[in-house]
Amino acid sequence: MDRNEVIQAVVENQVEFIELQFTDIFGIMKSVSIPSEELGKALSGEIMFDGSAIDGFVRIEESDMYLRPDLDTFLILPWAEYPKEARLICDIVDSEGKDFSGCPRNTLKRVIRDSAEKGYTLQVGPECEFFMFHTTDTGEPSRITHDKASYFDMAPQDLGGNARKDIVRTLKDMGFSVEASHHENAPGQHEIDFRYSNALNAADSIMTFKMVVRLIAKRHGLHATFMPKPSFGVSGSGMHLNLSLSSEDGSNLFYDGSDTLKMSKLAYSFMAGLLIHAREYTAVTNPTVNSYKRLVSGYEAPALISWSSRNRSPLIRVPSIIRDSTRIELRSPDSSANPYTAIAAVLAAGMDGVLKNLDPGAPLNSNLYDLSQKEIDEKGIERLPYNLYEAVSCLNESSLMRDTLGEHIFEKLTEACMKEWDNYSSQITAWEIERYLQRF
Ligand code: ADP
Ligand code: MG
Ligand code: MG
Ligand code: MG
Ligand code: MG
Repeated sequence: MDRNEVIQAVVENQVEFIELQFTDIFGIMKSVSIPSEELGKALSGEIMFDGSAIDGFVRIEESDMYLRPDLDTFLILPWAEYPKEARLICDIVDSEGKDFSGCPRNTLKRVIRDSAEKGYTLQVGPECEFFMFHTTDTGEPSRITHDKASYFDMAPQDLGGNARKDIVRTLKDMGFSVEASHHENAPGQHEIDFRYSNALNAADSIMTFKMVVRLIAKRHGLHATFMPKPSFGVSGSGMHLNLSLSSEDGSNLFYDGSDTLKMSKLAYSFMAGLLIHAREYTAVTNPTVNSYKRLVSGYEAPALISWSSRNRSPLIRVPSIIRDSTRIELRSPDSSANPYTAIAAVLAAGMDGVLKNLDPGAPLNSNLYDLSQKEIDEKGIERLPYNLYEAVSCLNESSLMRDTLGEHIFEKLTEACMKEWDNYSSQITAWEIERYLQRF
């Protein structure tokens, strides 16, 4: 869309308010709401906000930041009927008019430009899993699921299923191509898949998707959460990233009909980069304490760094394909990640494999969950970081990640993750009380 088309759409649809959205370093969506009379000013990048009020952005002395709307992200929010609202996703510019290096969207755009210069466009198909839980009488989220709670329902109906259909309908109204939606493994767990698109679009879509899921679930009296592992003993929620590189004209450069897995050399070396740098980017794709409760053996989540075309236990799966839809599926990321920095990190890791012409080695087609520690050691298989502490330590030593994220985000992220870990490690958990209070 161009400037005039946006203005015309606002006038024609009688939009009264426009949400100028952006994402902070930790993946939280922020928004400045303006009345539509201010649209001209917004489109000229003249809307200012106080950057020091945003966690991890800037200090008070340098707090004036400007929002630069991306016209292609203009959308009318279908649930806001009165007053009518639209949104624009924005990049952040500093007071001198330069791209702000603490803006994750700017970071992703920079990494995308680097690979575009080499002739590659990353395509991303995310699979965001989530739980929907009942809320208590006071509106607090519980961990009671609608499937189980349906025993108590006045009218026995699939509350979650209805909410999911409503979410899909809303996403379609907003221009998403929803490919499928289904109930996941655990009670109350769902997945909605939308069609892959270029990396920037995919990251924007993940932010929009999470907002829509939470909002529509709430309208059905449910609390939707993207927390990676809300309950012990059942599956956690991942955000698998399906990845391929295309040329500028959109043809899939991962496809090679002559290979057994229909994968090109480019695809193998990109995959090798993802495997070799896995320990370095995991703090970016899995930035919470809770992320590592999901990355354990079982439940189809990866714990070991390997690849396979056969099963769903390794870090990377090569799905069997129809025609030329060749892609690789990175299975570790979860939705607590900032999608902009997570996709930037993954793209940089893959591209490093391409530039260095790395080899991913042979696939490991056995079920990894069945391997003993001895077998894992003998085969020389590396493990993803056990916890946030180990992940941040690996991130801290990665020059590739420092260059990719940029000094600002790199410093703020490692600092915040370390603080998070310190806070967590000093807690006395229910598990410890149960285990030790009587025993000692
Ligand atoms: P799974 O079998 O892991 O459950 P899904 O069917 O849920 O996979 O999701 C597959 C995702 O991969 C979809 O978002 C789809 O659009 C995406 N996808 C398909 N082809 C490509 C491609 N060439 N590059 C990137 N993503 C792709
Ligand atoms: Mg899926
Ligand atoms: Mg599927
Ligand atoms: Mg799934
Ligand atoms: Mg998947």
